[in-house]
Amino acid sequence: MNNCCEPSVPQPDSSFETFARPVADWQARLMASLTRSVQASDQNLGHLEEAILHWTRDLERKLLEEAAQKKADQSPPVCPVCGHKLSRRTRDQERTFHSRFGPVTVKRLRGWCRRCAAWRFPADHALGLSDTGGASPSVQEMAALTVSKMPVQEASAVIERLTGVKLPPATLDREARRQGQRADQQRTQLDEQMRTVQGAGQMLPRPQAPLTLVIELDAWNIRERDDWGHSTQKRAAGQEPSRWHWVYGGTCFRLDQRVTSAGGRARILSCGTVMTRSGVAGLREQLFAEAQRHGLAQAAKVLVVADGAVWIWNLPGDRFAQAQQRLDYYHASQHLWAVAHALHPEAEVAARAWVQPLLKKLKGGRVTALLNDLRTLAKRLRKKKRAAVQAEVAYLESHRERMDYAAARRNGEPQGSGAMESTCRQYQCRFKRPGQFWSCAGDEGLMCLETFWRNDRWQLLFPHILHGDPRKN
Ligand SMILES: [Zn+2]
Repeated sequence: MNNCCEPSVPQPDSSFETFARPVADWQARLMASLTRSVQASDQNLGHLEEAILHWTRDLERKLLEEAAQKKADQSPPVCPVCGHKLSRRTRDQERTFHSRFGPVTVKRLRGWCRRCAAWRFPADHALGLSDTGGASPSVQEMAALTVSKMPVQEASAVIERLTGVKLPPATLDREARRQGQRADQQRTQLDEQMRTVQGAGQMLPRPQAPLTLVIELDAWNIRERDDWGHSTQKRAAGQEPSRWHWVYGGTCFRLDQRVTSAGGRARILSCGTVMTRSGVAGLREQLFAEAQRHGLAQAAKVLVVADGAVWIWNLPGDRFAQAQQRLDYYHASQHLWAVAHALHPEAEVAARAWVQPLLKKLKGGRVTALLNDLRTLAKRLRKKKRAAVQAEVAYLESHRERMDYAAARRNGEPQGSGAMESTCRQYQCRFKRPGQFWSCAGDEGLMCLETFWRNDRWQLLFPHILHGDPRKN
């Protein structure tokens, strides 16, 4: 419902006062400052850059304030939630918020929505201000981006240095959490869309050749304070408060997106990552949506690659029922090394000499021959050594269908889940810093922000970023 022609809404005025006198003032001051800087022998380009930033900032702030006021004045007096006309309207309700150029104040209309039974500020909605936080969309983005990459204290100092925006850590933390929550809601909506016809809009273009979809899985620990403040009661009740929780991650990509660099390292051009605190079931559902975006329904082959953890092989279930499974090669080789060290404790050279022919068999996909070798060996051993070899035989036997490394090389498929492990390490760098405790919901939101960034969907959260990009505008 758009009532922009309603008589009570003033028509926008296309002239900006800021372009009159303030521009002349700005020009005079900046010119003087630049001239001084040019003449000073101890000042370089950095001083010139700072001078332009410093002297232009207030002009930018005034322009933003004036334009924001015009936009506020133009907002029709209707409820932004239900579209109902507002009653009991009052004007000139001031609100000050943090903007990219410093604090900005606008006066806006307040009215009562009878249908929602709530006070509404239509201008806030038009400007993209949330009901609670005091940050402009650009500052909301700054909070989301920096806090999902670094600790809040550091982020606060970095923002101030780079942009001049002063956001105390507590304010920044609140804003980042709010954005995290919003990201989490948006992700849920996008994933739900994938179950309907609307999901087609999120899908990657259909490939020409038959498609192999690769899914890699991994998990890691995070420290949280979900029992914060309740430790004493929990201990009194005989329970140890838990601090460490699992984060489950998955990444999926089309095999044609995996290229080898000049140095021989595999690189993935485009992949979709999922990282969640909401358990294996949560990962399965999020990963299913992500795999659908990457062409799960059209895939001629789906391949799941991961280390040996039990949860991983239980995950595919009905969502990825046809998937072929592969045990990470490095992980499998570690089990052979375990036998080598059991047979030759503290004799690295002998252990290495023993393990080489077996690694060759593993790499060549000759799993039956490898297992026969190990069984023959076990028969010759006694007690501890025999048990050690038998344990590894049992482990490798349970994964024998997942060790087709020769076929992997022939098909140009990954032999290991290195891409996912490296992604997990990158998340850990941010989320495992000493002294950091968040709640489960806080973690999920911040990780969700990081995932939007990685999956190149940041613009879905902050559509204003497309405005300055001529390629996307
Ligand atoms: Zn309403």
